[in-house]
Parts: sequence; C-alpha cells; structure tokens
Amino acid sequence: AKQAGKNRFHLFDVASDAAIRIKRESLDQIAAAIAQHQLVLYYQPQVNMQTGEVVGMEALVRWLHPERGLLAPGQFLPVIEDHDLAIAIGERVLDLALSQMARWLAAGLHLPVSVNVFSRQLQQDDFVHKLRQALAAHPTVPSSALELEIVETSALQDMAQVSGLMHACAELGVRFALDDFGTGYSSLTYLKKLPAELLKIDQSFVRDMLDDRDDLAIVQGVVGLSKAFNRKVIAEGVETVAHGRKLLAMGCVLGQGYGIARPMPAQQVPGWLDQWRAQQPWVPQEDVGLP
Ligand code: C2E
Ligand code: MG
Ligand code: MG
Ligand code: MG
Repeated sequence: AKQAGKNRFHLFDVASDAAIRIKRESLDQIAAAIAQHQLVLYYQPQVNMQTGEVVGMEALVRWLHPERGLLAPGQFLPVIEDHDLAIAIGERVLDLALSQMARWLAAGLHLPVSVNVFSRQLQQDDFVHKLRQALAAHPTVPSSALELEIVETSALQDMAQVSGLMHACAELGVRFALDDFGTGYSSLTYLKKLPAELLKIDQSFVRDMLDDRDDLAIVQGVVGLSKAFNRKVIAEGVETVAHGRKLLAMGCVLGQGYGIARPMPAQQVPGWLDQWRAQQPWVPQEDVGLP
C-alpha cells in the first residue's frame, strides 16, 4: 500500500510538472504575442433597443495568432487571469481602445467604449495613476467616454479597496460597470458596496430566459435591483428580436448581443453604424411595452 501511495504521488508530480510546463509555455507565448502586437480588439455595439441609439461599444480582445488564426479570449485568458501578465494585457487593451477612440473622434465619431479589466489590475496600488497616464496619452479622448467593466471574483474580496479605487476613477470621469452580474455568490453585497453606474446582466441568463423560468426570474430580479439601487442596466446575450421585446417589456432598454451585432474589427464599425441607422433592422418599434 505504501508503495502504491508512493507511485500515486510520483504520478501526481509528473502530471503537475507537465501542467506547470504547459502553463509556462503558454505564458511565454502570450508575452510574445503582446510584444509582437498580435492582440487586437473587436468591438460589439451596445444599443438602446427602444430608440435604436448606439450608446457605446464593448472592446473585446482577440489574439491574431500567426498559425492558429483568430483566438477568442476563452482560449488564452484563463491561463493568465491570476498572473502578472494580466496587467500587461489589460494595459495594452486600454491603450488600444483609447487609440481607437481617438481615431474615431478624429473621424467625427463619438463612441463611448467599455473596456474589461482584470481583478489583478485592480489590485495594483498605482492603478488609478496608470489610468490617468493612459488618458493623458490620448488627450482628445474625454474620460467620460471610457467605461471599465469588472467581474465579481474571489480576487475582489477587498471591497473597501475596490470601492475606493472606483471613487477615484469617478473623479477622473471614468465610469464602472459590473459585468456578468448575477453569476457571483455575493452580488448583492457587491452592489451595495461598489459605486458602479451600470449592471450588465450575464448573457447566460438572458439567452435562456425565454424558455427557462429561473433565468427569467434572475433577469427580472437584476432589472428590479438596478431600479431599486438607481443604477443603469444592460442585457448581454440579446440573440433575437424576441429577447429584445421581452427585455423592453421588463423595462430594460439597453442591450448587447448577436441579435444586434457580433463583435467586429474596428474598421467595420463605421459601416455597421451607417447600416444600423438606415435600417435598425430589428428594433421592435411598434408593440414596445405590450404584454
Ligand atoms: P464579457 O465581458 O462578458 O463579454 C461578452 C462576451 O459575450 C463576449 O465574448 C461576446 O462576444 C459574447 N457575446 C456577446 N453577445 C452574445 C450573444 O448574443 N450570445 C452569446 N452566446 N455570446 C455573446 P468574448 O469576446 O469571447 O469574451 C469573453 C470574455 O473574455 C468577456 O466576457 C470578458 O470577460 C473576457 N474579455 C474579453 N476581452 C477582454 C479584455 O480585453 N480584458 C479582460 N480583462 N477580459 C476580457
Ligand atoms: Mg465585459
Ligand atoms: Mg459579461
Ligand atoms: Mg463573461
């Protein structure tokens, strides 16, 4: 038995050595990807489903991998989430987004942009200082056009610290959104303690709310909470017109999802805006609010 135990430990060590090596290699590759400018941003529109107004764009990172093609965040972010590399990626993403906003502004497009931040970034003492510097490097971009999205994670346990940081950012004019709202274990405390302006209802609840009563109850609950706490609310995962109608009937007017537009490269945004304004293909203008 002792021998077997030893063997098990041995196997376990081999397995974790391999895991560590693979993780090390992925981290090196991601670091190289940052250095070689292989990270790019796609943008997904956020609209007022009642009026059709485009209220902003969410910046979503992609890895333009030389061999594997375009990689989604799920294919490389999980490796770095608890690592310092998250800070490097977060800073690159912020800089790319601000540069793009400046380009759009120069072309006459005023588009607010939401940028996702890792909790690892928020743990830095100089986060606000770095944010101020990033904004200063793009002087044409008003800080009020920038929104930061954070997800509730165990890394966000220090609510007092995060709350202080959010207040400091608010003084700069930068707003916060609570992303994937409803998926965490302590969303209510989170909401009470953090001065975020916007709640983003997680796409999984919205996507399934038409056939799943529990998901519908969660969506309704978050919309109710947003009203009670005087926050704005946006639904992610608006995949169809039916989703949009249901949300409007519940009093949630802001939406983001494949049914409105998929995330797209920055160059496609002006064309999409023209097309959206010309057609607003799916905005359910007639029977808004009808049961
Ligand atoms: P998220 O911030 O909640 O972003 C929304 C995700 O939902 C995006 O996936 C988007 O493509 C997807 N989505 C949008 N509409 C629909 C829909 O109607 N149906 C479905 N099924 N999905 C929809 P994506 O781009 O793969 O990003 C996944 C997650 O990776 C993001 O979730 C965010 O947490 C993280 N992420 C992406 N870019 C960044 C970044 O630059 N920094 C950080 N820290 N995290 C990022
Ligand atoms: Mg987000
Ligand atoms: Mg989300
Ligand atoms: Mg998410």
